[in-house]
Amino acid sequence: MTAVLTATDCATAPLARVSGCDLQVPLVGGGTCAYANFDYAASAPALAQVTERVHGLLPFYASVHRGAGYASRVSTDAYENARGSVERFVGADDDQVVVFTRNTTDSLNLLAGCVPGDVVVLDIEHHANLLPWKNSRVVEAADTVAETIRRLVAELCAKPAALLAVTGASNVTGEVLPIGELAEAAHRCGARILVDGAQLTPHRRVNLAETGVDYLAFSGHKLYAPFGAGVLVGRRDWLDEAEPYLAGGGAVREVTIDETCWAPAPARHEAGSPNVLGVAALASACDALSALDFAAIVEHERVLSTRLTEGLAEIDGVHLLRLWSDAPDSVGIVTFTIDGFEPGQIAAYLSAEHGIGVRDGRFCAHPLLNRIGRAEGAVRASLGLGTGSEDVDRLVTAVRKLVAGEA
Ligand code: PLP
Repeated sequence: MTAVLTATDCATAPLARVSGCDLQVPLVGGGTCAYANFDYAASAPALAQVTERVHGLLPFYASVHRGAGYASRVSTDAYENARGSVERFVGADDDQVVVFTRNTTDSLNLLAGCVPGDVVVLDIEHHANLLPWKNSRVVEAADTVAETIRRLVAELCAKPAALLAVTGASNVTGEVLPIGELAEAAHRCGARILVDGAQLTPHRRVNLAETGVDYLAFSGHKLYAPFGAGVLVGRRDWLDEAEPYLAGGGAVREVTIDETCWAPAPARHEAGSPNVLGVAALASACDALSALDFAAIVEHERVLSTRLTEGLAEIDGVHLLRLWSDAPDSVGIVTFTIDGFEPGQIAAYLSAEHGIGVRDGRFCAHPLLNRIGRAEGAVRASLGLGTGSEDVDRLVTAVRKLVAGEA
């Protein structure tokens, strides 16, 4: 009889080569082992194409927008052409403008200064999508996505709001919200929608034109590019009208001692010398991901996440964290606790004895952790393009040993 292989029996190779994939790390008992990175949700290692792009641009290190020299022209082109890469990556339309920022947090703070009215948010957000909003009205998420959306719509319709600000994918559970449906609901109630795409954009194709999303924020360092550059892309009018929250050179059309005439977006919100290398790297990551088959990414994550959740669920005392019973999709984030072990203790053990890097703590989402009764925190294992089934098996085996007292 031919044996039937399930997804979890088959070896799954990494989908792309990322920086650090050959890293050897020290173990507590002496010796080294290959690093197993399960911290993609914090910062994803750079794709090989991104590393090459940064190296290729380094000789042209020069200030942008204000030099006639060749290096300055190359840098300016790299910086300005990066907007096109982002537009193609997220399917922005002509009415939407790409502003380069430092990261998602910076993008959301920038937009918070531009919103002409109330902002409706959920209580499960990362602090970056909770704290910047002025005049915010916080809605408690329910146990299902369907009921959560119903509550959001009720709040949006009860009293006019300018913006609904929601996460695309939770940084704690990986669960995805249906952003197209939320965009439609927000528009029906006369509001716009901002999606915090920090965790969604590295894992799912986001198309602003198709989903009707008005604003999207994300970070280069979670999208397989280095630290230091982020994006706010969205409808131009609010961005053109608001006072910039960072004042200085490059953001103006004309200055006299008595009066400042600000430039339109994006320059209006990009005062000072920009992070040219970071932006070029981010754009290169957008190009690389645009060229990948997202269906293959989804399948790769599905197979590995299933292998991980099934492996962990079989271990006594392990609890997997979820928010909703009906989430339509989930990115490669698996968060858990183990009875009798502190999250910090588990993370330290995985690193010291097995060379496995996970995240522990409250993931900048304290209200969410409090709500699901995990105020003491949890352990988050997040995967990405460089993860393979071998890594997953190492993690499951390490947790099994810990619980069995073999650590
Ligand atoms: N939003 C979500 C959902 C996140 O996961 C994070 C970072 O973990 C942020 C916002 C903030 O991103 P950054 O630190 O790059 O600004």
